[in-house]
Amino acid sequence: MEADVVIVGGGPAGMACALRLAQLIDEHNASGVDEMLSKENIYVLEKSREVGQHCLSGGLLDPRSMKELLPGFEKEAPLDAEVTKESVWFLTKGGQYKAPIVPPPLRDHGNYVVSLNKFAKWMGQKVEEAGITVFTGFAGSELLWADESRDAETACVQGVITDDKGVDKEGQPKGNFEPGYELRAKVTILAEGTRGSLAKELIGKLGLEDPEHAQTYGVGIKELWEIPAGRVAKGEVIYTLGYPLTSREYGGAWIYGITDTLASVGYVTGLDYQDPRIDPHHVFQSFKEHKFARRILEGGKMIRYGAKSLPYGGWLTMPRVYGNGWMLLGDSASFLNSQRLKGIHLAIKSGMLAAEAAFDALLSGNSSADTLSEYKAAVDRSWIREELWPVRNFHQGFEHGRLEGFVKAGIQQVMRGGNLGPDAKNHAGYEQMRQLDTLGPADADRAAMVGNAKGDGKLTFDRLTDVFHSGTRHDEDQPVHLVVQDLNICSDRCTKEFGNPCQYFCPAAVYEMVDSAQQDGAGGSAKELRINFTNCVHCKTCDIMDPYQIITWVPPEGGGGPNYDGM
Ligand code: SF4
Repeated sequence: MEADVVIVGGGPAGMACALRLAQLIDEHNASGVDEMLSKENIYVLEKSREVGQHCLSGGLLDPRSMKELLPGFEKEAPLDAEVTKESVWFLTKGGQYKAPIVPPPLRDHGNYVVSLNKFAKWMGQKVEEAGITVFTGFAGSELLWADESRDAETACVQGVITDDKGVDKEGQPKGNFEPGYELRAKVTILAEGTRGSLAKELIGKLGLEDPEHAQTYGVGIKELWEIPAGRVAKGEVIYTLGYPLTSREYGGAWIYGITDTLASVGYVTGLDYQDPRIDPHHVFQSFKEHKFARRILEGGKMIRYGAKSLPYGGWLTMPRVYGNGWMLLGDSASFLNSQRLKGIHLAIKSGMLAAEAAFDALLSGNSSADTLSEYKAAVDRSWIREELWPVRNFHQGFEHGRLEGFVKAGIQQVMRGGNLGPDAKNHAGYEQMRQLDTLGPADADRAAMVGNAKGDGKLTFDRLTDVFHSGTRHDEDQPVHLVVQDLNICSDRCTKEFGNPCQYFCPAAVYEMVDSAQQDGAGGSAKELRINFTNCVHCKTCDIMDPYQIITWVPPEGGGGPNYDGM
């Protein structure tokens, strides 16, 4: 199929891009020009069954970019509550301390508590009303390259191939087999969210990431809770730091009041921790057991669950975002402010600016890197840079722990984001993971976060109970979409060196070490990896955090995955 523009990913970045492009084409066609532009061959591909089903965030929207995209959007968008009250707390195992003032980056008056799922769905309706076709249930599974060149200056992307439908678990076509579509596009825009699979291929093949500024990530585990009235007010925002993470790990919790009896509750764990036994899902369950969270949640009911990774690296870790025939948006390209814990507004703005460059490409009939470089130039001129540049070293400052991080954050505040020396270099998070035999006694008392949580079924839950509440569904008769390059590494090296951390960092119990038919050296059963891929909630943590980097997440058959209704 020939296409003018293909946008892969129907989240806020992709939808904002489609909507802005439709607006520009409408304005152009209404201006009395001879040569009209068509919206007919502009497509958004979304891998979930319905728009928004794979969209999950803590749920705070800074409305700045939406006000530019759709002035007056507040009147019709699904906004749950305007923020009316914030507080920041530090938790120790037995204590809770309220910050005397809310640090400016966490002041949220004027922002909205939203369900990203509902918000993306609403944006999708706007896109379709504007005359752009959204294909749901279709993932971009391969990039179409113009030739063999893999040089960032000369390589050219000419579209994508969508996923094959009806392939069985052995990789053979079933009765309902349909091969993927080849969508040949003038401009291909990747807005797949954090660690997008096509974005990863593009960044890797063209060497777009600066090795001295590797991207770092966190994983957010979220539950939606019905709670008794009077615990958290509608529009109230609570942030916590500390327990159960120690000063060596990065992360913290949020509780947002959606209504007086419904709250978004979650915990983000930085994916650069050292102890391979840490389980981010367990971290979240332990947080809920702390008296601070317990007093809010006890007597309530958990109704939904989900998990998603997010890019923490900020401006310095942004890969090149344009080339011949392609652009990268949103979380796929590091548009997130980790100091403010917000990215939706930046994702939307990146989509709008990419749409303007794509429009120029359509108008001029030239989608070379020269034309699309205007996207990056526009980002540099926009408030995206104004917001991200002064916090460019923020997350990197925490590489050696919380205390040093706070000292560095203070210095950066005075120096407009700079350090006393040059900008911080940083390593990929998985490189921080230490082998089991190097963990000293200080690592032994981490019961609140190592190993899988069991859960009491009321306040805390095991992972399978949680996954049930994510609405996740995949056809079982299809190839496994978690591709492990060498299973021998799992059963041999990884068992000895790291204790198979995939069993812990996956928040959906996908990875399990089970007895194999082989014997180990001591006469017992050797272990092998079992992959329960149908549980996968598409968070990408395994692709990011595996210490050997041998796990690749590829899109399963379109339509499969979680159903983040209301999340
Ligand atoms: Fe996330 Fe990977 Fe587990 Fe899927 S298999 S839920 S992507 S960690």
